[in-house]
Amino acid sequence: MNCKMENAPTVNNGGRLFKNDICFIALLLLIVSALGLCFYLFREEGDEVVVTVNGEVFGTYSLAEDVVVEIRTGEQGCECNRLVIKDGKAYVEAATCPDGICAEHKPISREGESIVCLPHRVVITVRATEPEEAPDIIV
Ligand SMILES: [Zn+2]
Repeated sequence: MNCKMENAPTVNNGGRLFKNDICFIALLLLIVSALGLCFYLFREEGDEVVVTVNGEVFGTYSLAEDVVVEIRTGEQGCECNRLVIKDGKAYVEAATCPDGICAEHKPISREGESIVCLPHRVVITVRATEPEEAPDIIV
């Protein structure tokens, strides 16, 4: 019984503190997610597609222009992924890779989305262009 008397105020205080913490964290999370949502909504659509082969940039293409790019890799260039950019979306129309996963991938248009062709080591990524990109940043 003595224990109960002693513990009661501590538990109450703790409870209140805990509640405040939860409120604070919830508020923080709300702000962060709201900011994140704004960020996401504004940057949702990418502007360009970056194609890398074996980690090296093969080419950069604007999503605003419809284009067909043959990404030829391999020793005789016989490994091919046909990248199509149409209506602001990029997709692999056809590929000579054995698994064909890249060709089955849905069209991508949002920043950060990518299509990967593992057998050809081709990575197609959508990114948003940075308007403030200065030439001296490029190394
Ligand atoms: Zn593939």
